[in-house]
Amino acid sequence: MDSFVPVPPRENPSARTPMRCPVCDQELTDVQIRDLGGVSADLVWQVHAGYCPVDGWFQAEIVSRPPREIFPVHRPFGAARRMIIGNDEVFAFSTVWNDMPNDVKRSRVDPLDPQYWKVRSLRGE
Ligand SMILES: [Zn+2]
Repeated sequence: MDSFVPVPPRENPSARTPMRCPVCDQELTDVQIRDLGGVSADLVWQVHAGYCPVDGWFQAEIVSRPPREIFPVHRPFGAARRMIIGNDEVFAFSTVWNDMPNDVKRSRVDPLDPQYWKVRSLRGE
C-alpha cells in the first residue's frame, strides 16, 4: 500500500465512489479507483481514493464488502497520515458497516452501497 505507481494500469479516470469526506461529509473530487480484483469472478477488490479540498486525501479498501474504515492518506494509494480533530489524533474513521447486524454482514450486500460507507459520528462515542 505504501508504494506509489504514478499511472496505474487499471485506473478509471471518471471513477465514482460512495466515499465522502469523513470529516465534513462533502463529495470527494479526483476520485481514483484501483481495481485489484480478478482472483475469482465474484471477488470485488478495490481501493478507492478521493480528495477533499479542506481535509485532504482519503482512501478505503473493499474486499467484496463495504469498508470498515476510511483512512486519511498523504496521496492516493500512499502512506497513511494522522489528523487532529478537536483534541484527538485520528488515524482512521470507522464506518457504520461495523455496526451492522451479523446477518447483514454475512449476506451479499452491494459493497458500493453508500449507506454502509457513512462514518460513525465523531461525537458521542
Ligand atoms: Zn472534508
